[in-house]
Amino acid sequence: MAGGYLCVTCKETFTSDHAFRMHRTGEYGKALYQGSRLLGYAPHTRRCMSQEEMSAAGMVKHPGSGRWSTGLFPVGGFPIKGDAQETVEIP
Ligand SMILES: [Zn+2]
Repeated sequence: MAGGYLCVTCKETFTSDHAFRMHRTGEYGKALYQGSRLLGYAPHTRRCMSQEEMSAAGMVKHPGSGRWSTGLFPVGGFPIKGDAQETVEIP
C-alpha cells in the first residue's frame, strides 16, 4: 500500500490524492438562506463514485496495482515534449 491512497468508504485505492478527490462526488449539505434567515440545509449527497462512474469520468484502474489514477496523464510518465513534432522525415 506504500504511496497509495485508500478510501475508507468504498475501499478503492488511488495513485494520488487528486485521483481520490476525483472519485468523490455530490454536495456537502449547503446552508439555505432566504435573505439573512437560515431556512435549513440542503441534503448531504457526498458519496463515492461507482467503478462505472469513475471509468466514465476518464479515470483509469491500473491492472498491476489495482489503484485508480486520474487518467489525465499517460501510464508510465509524461511523453517527451515535442517528441513527435521535432522528428523530421528524411526524403
Ligand atoms: Zn471511495
